[in-house]
Parts: sequence; structure tokens; C-alpha cells
Amino acid sequence: MLTSLRRIVLEFSQDAELESAVRRMASQIKLAMKTDCCSIYIADYQQQHFVLMASDGLAEKSLGQTTIDFTEGLIGLVAQREEPLNISNAQTHPHFIHAPEVQEEDLNAFLGTPIIHRRKVLGVIAIQQKKSRYFNENEEAFIVTLAAQVATSFANAEASGVIAHQQGGKWSKAIKGAAGSSGVALAPMYVVQPNAVLHTVAMVTAADRAVEHSRLEQAITRTRHDFTVMAGKLGKIIADDSLDIFEMYKQLLDKANLGNELSSQVDNGWRAESALKLVIDSYVLQFVGLDDSYLRERASDIRDLGNRLLFNLQSLNNKPFTAPESFILVAEEVTASMVAEYQHLGIRGIVSLLGSNNSHAAILARALALPAIMGVERIPLGQLDKKLAIIDGYSGELFVTPNDALISEYRHLIAEEDALANKVKQVEKLPAVTVDGKEIVLQLNAGLSSGFEHSKNSGAAGIGLYRTEIPFMNRSCFPSELEQTMLYRQVLDAFPDQSVTMRTLDIGGDKCLPYFPIIEDNPFLGWRGIRITLDHPEIFLLQVRAMIRANIEQKNLEIMLPMIASVTEVDEAVRLINQAFYELSSEIQEKEGLELVKPKIGIMIEVPSVIFQLADIAKKVDFFSVGSNDLTQYLLAVDRNNARVANIYSSYHPAVLRALKIIADQSNKEQVPLSLCGELASEPAGALLLLAMGYDKLSMNPHNIAKIKWVIRHVELKQAKVILARVLSFIDTQQVHNYLNEQLELLGLGGFVRAGM
Ligand code: PEP
Ligand code: MG
Repeated sequence: MLTSLRRIVLEFSQDAELESAVRRMASQIKLAMKTDCCSIYIADYQQQHFVLMASDGLAEKSLGQTTIDFTEGLIGLVAQREEPLNISNAQTHPHFIHAPEVQEEDLNAFLGTPIIHRRKVLGVIAIQQKKSRYFNENEEAFIVTLAAQVATSFANAEASGVIAHQQGGKWSKAIKGAAGSSGVALAPMYVVQPNAVLHTVAMVTAADRAVEHSRLEQAITRTRHDFTVMAGKLGKIIADDSLDIFEMYKQLLDKANLGNELSSQVDNGWRAESALKLVIDSYVLQFVGLDDSYLRERASDIRDLGNRLLFNLQSLNNKPFTAPESFILVAEEVTASMVAEYQHLGIRGIVSLLGSNNSHAAILARALALPAIMGVERIPLGQLDKKLAIIDGYSGELFVTPNDALISEYRHLIAEEDALANKVKQVEKLPAVTVDGKEIVLQLNAGLSSGFEHSKNSGAAGIGLYRTEIPFMNRSCFPSELEQTMLYRQVLDAFPDQSVTMRTLDIGGDKCLPYFPIIEDNPFLGWRGIRITLDHPEIFLLQVRAMIRANIEQKNLEIMLPMIASVTEVDEAVRLINQAFYELSSEIQEKEGLELVKPKIGIMIEVPSVIFQLADIAKKVDFFSVGSNDLTQYLLAVDRNNARVANIYSSYHPAVLRALKIIADQSNKEQVPLSLCGELASEPAGALLLLAMGYDKLSMNPHNIAKIKWVIRHVELKQAKVILARVLSFIDTQQVHNYLNEQLELLGLGGFVRAGM
């Protein structure tokens, strides 16, 4: 049963066309379950009904014709209850509706299962049998598993359909993702293909078979060469028999093995990549179906080989990037370093299939005021390149080849957005002080973008978080002490009379260095931030020395430690900073006769454990700064980068808000200055709550300074405190949101909510 299940799922995902895929699947399910009929109904949300799309057993003429309203019949009941429905005689069930055209008079037993993707019912699979009986547990388990496994492919096919349908004309239907960064962009899409992976390859027919044959041959030759080189390099380090795997790979590439099958799939009309996917998938399927566990494991070798071949095939196409004048960057996973790489090249917006609105790519997009949509898991990348698109960073919607009405609607929105930005700009240079006289310091988050020149004029009082990672990311090795010194000096010089808080290297999680790979199953819970730099004091000391050296003139540096989880880490880091400081001090005093000023040291509160040790840590540092992005992720156990759980990641969760209040009270008691530099600070409602809690400073990207000033200058502290007290009594995130939106409207700040700013 397991093998047929895998085969059905795999073949379904391989079919480029939804209609033929579901038809084939209906027959396969009927065969595997030895039943009399299997039908598949697809949900049409615009019409609010299900369409009978495929059936092996019901009348052929009803396919694509018969529809059932969402609230009607047994199919509607399965969808409404969102669970399987097992009935021994459907004909006598009160919800049964007789539809003469489908000719199901002699079918009695019924087992229906919903196909659900991300809480949305996409369709229903119905199994029917003449004999009146209940389906047994195994049959039920089989169909439920199958429905769960094909759900993602269904969703993918639905999105492909959105794009495919508008090939002929212009389209206004949206593809949804998470709103990663507000704003709107209209530009052609530029698709960046990252490392190749076979499962994302679309089934595409060849334009010219001879060309595909030659590409295939070149890729095989390159792959064979790669294995020879790899075996040569590794041969110096590991035993000979461990290198057999490379010989095996090379043999598999021979004509007698995969070679011939690949070319015959090209002869069948497939593009080389699609041919490769077909052949590798069918081998993988054969291997995973084997009883022998050793041989079963070989499936991953075949997959590996396939991915390498694919990489070589795709790199044959790679031409050096010539930037279009303006474009929307689209990729399977847009990373922060990718955004940084393209930021000067005409990028207007970002669409990432993976990731969420708290991924660093989204944070960087916000810093650069680029609209972004994250977690659009369901679009076939291959179909998007060069197509005109609108991205709506407020609603998280992508419109491919939009129609004229939509274009003019969005132009209107852009104009409104500009008007609001101009309005708040009036207060940019004024202090952030409430109507009743409470002042709060607003600082900048910087570093993720290299161009921070314009930030100097944003009206901020210094830098509250300078992320040092990016200069480390766009390189092929660690930057030298001198390079770092020069860079940090520029930053410190830009804010001569204001403090600049530099965070020590916070790599790991979703920020990786190409020359220092960290491969982990749980990167956000793994080797990250201070954990790495304490394990590598040579990297830490070099960075801290560069910071202190850069500070000789301005004396405005503060050093901040990321991802602190224990008092010991604070002790060790402070010891290393002291070491760097005293070594450098004596060096500089000797050579230049200059006295160095010891920078203040603070920690980020991101890991929940430190909330319970604030009193201990308070004695050892000069300030605290809450990293609400990570604090939210760790308190709620929600990966900030994972689109699947993006809906439950919220800094407005009552537990997060209460934790933020405890931190504020505790810091106040210990008299440690407190700031917050996560994304919450840049949201009107968030800033209002933090002000009321007693945070001294808020740090945010330059584009939000004026807006948050505007908000603060239009409220009274005592009003904010009343709002906070009410918010802290809520037990549910949605309640918090609804109440805050309502309060912002009442305060005359509703424009910020509507525009999503
Ligand atoms: C945070 O976690 O809130 C933070 C500011 O750091 P980063 O987003 O870089 O992890
Ligand atoms: Mg963080």
C-alpha cells in the first residue's frame, strides 16, 4: 500500500497539467483501493462550488460539468467538517443529493476526504462502492494520507493555473503571500535561480531536441569531471573505499545506465531538465520501494546525482547578470545578501517563495523601502521571468501581467502613499515627544544595507542597532581588521555627537557566510550569534579591536552582544572585550600617545532565559536592548523564517507583550537603560505600547522614523498607558490587534493602519 501511495503522489506531482494529473490519480486510487469508483472534486472559491474534475466510475459526460455548492450534498459536508466521512449507504444519507447526470444509482458505500492546504479546502476525494459497507481503517488511513500529501501539489497547480490562464489576456487575480514589506511596485520580474533542486523543476517540452541532446551531453561530461576532481581532492584525506561512491556515480552516468534513458526522454520531446526529473524520480521511486534498507538509502544518492546534473545543466544557461532598468527580484529563497547584492541595480521589489515577514531579507527590504512578498510557496518560477507584475506589499498580493484597470488602481495607491509620507516628513527633524511632554529617543537600525548615507538625515538620534553581518556576507573570506576599522569609522563618523551601538557578528540562523558554512537541522536553535564568536575568539577579538580602533576620534561607540542566553556568556564576552581594549590601549598609547575611551557594553534580550536573569546581568553591563524579532520567535517557538507558521508569529501575542512589560519593569528597577530594536518599534501600535511600558529608546529603519515621530507627537502618555493596561488584559492576539486598530482610528492615526505602514 505504501509503495502505491508513493507512486500516486509522485506521479501526480510530476504532471504539468492539473486536469490530466487528477484524472490519472482518480484511476490509480480506484485501482489501489480495489473499489468501484473514485472521483475528485475541485473547489472554485469564486463560484463557491465544487466542480467534478475527474472520476473513474461516474459518467464521463459529467466531468467538468457537474457542480455542487459548498454547503450542499455529501461533498459539501466533507468540506465543511474538514474531516473524512465514511458512510455505508450514501443514498439514504440526509445530505445525499441525487444528480442524475453522474449515474451513481448503484453506488452505495461512500468515503470522502478533504484536500486541505494551509487550512483551505482545495478539493474532495470521494471513493464509492456498490456494496453497502463501511470502509475499513486502513482504507481510511490510505486516503487521508494521500490527500494530505497531494495537497501541496494541488496548491502549486492552482497557482500555475492562475499564471497559465492569463497567458492570452491580462489578468487581475492575485497570488497570495505574506506582506513582508509595505509599498507597491510595478515592474518586470527577474527570476534568480539559486542552487538547483530537482523537485522544483517544471515539466517543459523541448523547443529543439538537438539542442537539448547537446546540453545533456555537456552536463554529463561536466558532472563526470566534477566527480573525478572531487575524488582526487578527497583521495588525499580519506580511505580509498570511501571514494567508491564517485565511481558508482560515474558508472550511473554511462549510456548503459541513466545516459540512455535520459536521451530517450529527450527523444520523447522533453527539455533536458524535465527529462532528468522524470528519469531520476522513477529511479528514486524504485529504490524507496525496496525492502532492503541499505538499497533504500541509495535513493538519496540518486537524488544527489540528479541535483548535480541539474546544477550543471542550469549553469550552461547562466549568463552574466545585466540589470534591467527596474525589476522585481524573484527567487525561491531571497536572502538578505541577495537583496544587498542587487540593491543598487534597479531593484523595485521582492518576491520570495520561502521565508516570512521576519526573515532578514524582509527586514532589509523594509530598511530599503522596497515592497516585498514572502512565503509565496505556490508559483512556478520558470513561468515568471520577464513578466510584468504588481506587488502589493501591504496585502502580500502578487499580480502577474496585470490588466490596465489594476495598473491604474495601483498608481493611485502609490500616490496616496507618497502623500502620507510627505505629511509625516514635516515632523522628521522634531523631537519624539508626546502631547503631555514625555520624550522617547528614536534611533536607527543600520548595517543590513550598505548605503546608509541617506539615513544621516532621517531625524534619528544615532544608531541603536548596527548589524555588522552584511559586510561579512558579500565576500569570499573574513574582512581584515583594517577593512573593518575603516568601515566602522565611517559609521561612527556619521553620528559625531550621538551614540552608535554596534552589534558583534550575529551570523547563523538565516544569515550565513559563503566561506564559513554552517549546516544544521535547526539553525535558529543552533550555532548562532555569540555562541559562534565565543567559540572563535580570534574572529570576535579582531572585530572588537576594529570597533575600538575606529572609535578613537568620535568616542561614541557602544558594543552590543547578540543571542545572549546565560550570565557566563556575558562574562566571557566582557572579558574578551576588556582584553581587546587593554591590548589596543597600550599599543596606541605607546605609538601615538592617545588615551582610548572604553565603550559601553550591552546585551540583546532575545532568548527568553535572560528575562529571568536580568538582575544578575544588570550588574555586568551598561544597557539592555530587546531584539523583539528573536524574542517573539523563541517565546512562541515559531521559526521567524518559516512561511507555514507565519500566521502564528506575532509580537502582539499576549505572552510577548507581557514579557516586554516585565523586562521594562525589571530594567527600571535595576536602573539599566532599555531600548528595543526589533521590528515592533517601527509599527505605530507597537511604538505606542513600548512608550507606555517605559522603554527609553526605540530603534528602527530610517524610513519609519518620521512616521513613529508623528504617532508619538499625536498621543498623550496617559492615553497610551490606558491602552496598554487594556491590552495587557487580553488573552488572544486577534483581540489585541482589533483593539489597537480601533484605538489608532480613534486617535486619528487610522491612515497608518489602512495603508499598513
Ligand atoms: C531582533 O532579533 O529583534 C533583532 C533586532 O536582531 P535580528 O533581527 O538581526 O536577529
Ligand atoms: Mg536577533
